[in-house]
Amino acid sequence: MTNPPVCDYTDSDYQASFWDAGGREYEDRCEAIALKHLLPKSGGLLLELGAGAGRNTPRYAGFERVVLLDYSPTQLEQAQARLGRSDRYIYVAADVYSLPFVDSLFDAATMIRTLHHMADAPKALRQVRSVLQPGATFILEYANKQNLKAILRYALRRQDWNPFTLEPVEFAKLNFDFHPQAVRGWLTDVGFAIQKTLTVSHFRLGLLKRLVPTSILAGMDSLFQWTGALFQLTPSVFVRCRLVGRDSIPPRVERDGILPRVGRNSIPPSIGQNGILSYFKCPECGHAPLEIVGRDSIPPTAGLKERTGYLTCPSCKRKWVVKDGIYDFRETIH
Ligand SMILES: [Zn+2]
Repeated sequence: MTNPPVCDYTDSDYQASFWDAGGREYEDRCEAIALKHLLPKSGGLLLELGAGAGRNTPRYAGFERVVLLDYSPTQLEQAQARLGRSDRYIYVAADVYSLPFVDSLFDAATMIRTLHHMADAPKALRQVRSVLQPGATFILEYANKQNLKAILRYALRRQDWNPFTLEPVEFAKLNFDFHPQAVRGWLTDVGFAIQKTLTVSHFRLGLLKRLVPTSILAGMDSLFQWTGALFQLTPSVFVRCRLVGRDSIPPRVERDGILPRVGRNSIPPSIGQNGILSYFKCPECGHAPLEIVGRDSIPPTAGLKERTGYLTCPSCKRKWVVKDGIYDFRETIH
């Protein structure tokens, strides 16, 4: 299977250099405000795509369980250090273009500051669609090429690319800004209905951020976020969509008892190996369920995430490693 290249944050100190020491408290607070407005109050199983070091994960407190997905295991290790290991969080390293989850598993998903690394955004969105239940909520943040700064630079001829055209602009390797109309079209094409649009980070200017206290600047941003329904000129845009139009995809496969029901009170108090296993499918051939290699050697009381082990696909015989609580689907092992 050939997928577009992915932006790999492995061994990156992105969390420390960009968020913790990079003067991004304003952006972080603005995102928290937007998420508060967009997230369902409660839910069962949420997929966080591009979870990184888990900066946003505590904001999903209304959900019973969160699957953190990132391409980089080292980012997930940082998330583990921050959030701890419990039944509440499941850590999965995988390529967004080949998601290792069974169809219609999640009742919500978020993708924040992640789409801007996608060379083939529609392909990634189709993958997201396939793992969501009908009616599921999807919250997407994307970088907006039609932002005020880009428009001014273009007008002053200090920038080559046109902020008003629909194609993505790759301003640095594997860093893309998108046109709001293009993103809306992709979402609609794959079956999402857009419910709400918020514009975020209206005041992302170094001078303002230095002069005005962060809480005031974020409060001002909050007052303007709703204008996203009318026009989008900020560098960051959030949309909340609902998955509709799933006619071509069969409903959740519950008849054969493979999938657990997800929802209030439906998840057993502790995840056994089988509970987690039922989430996964082979990202290569699509077979589910996967199996644990050497299962007999793992005591039945031990959670798989507590030890190094392997998952294998009974159909195509590929294998993936599970190490220190991280399911690593990036590469098959032999
Ligand atoms: Zn397979």
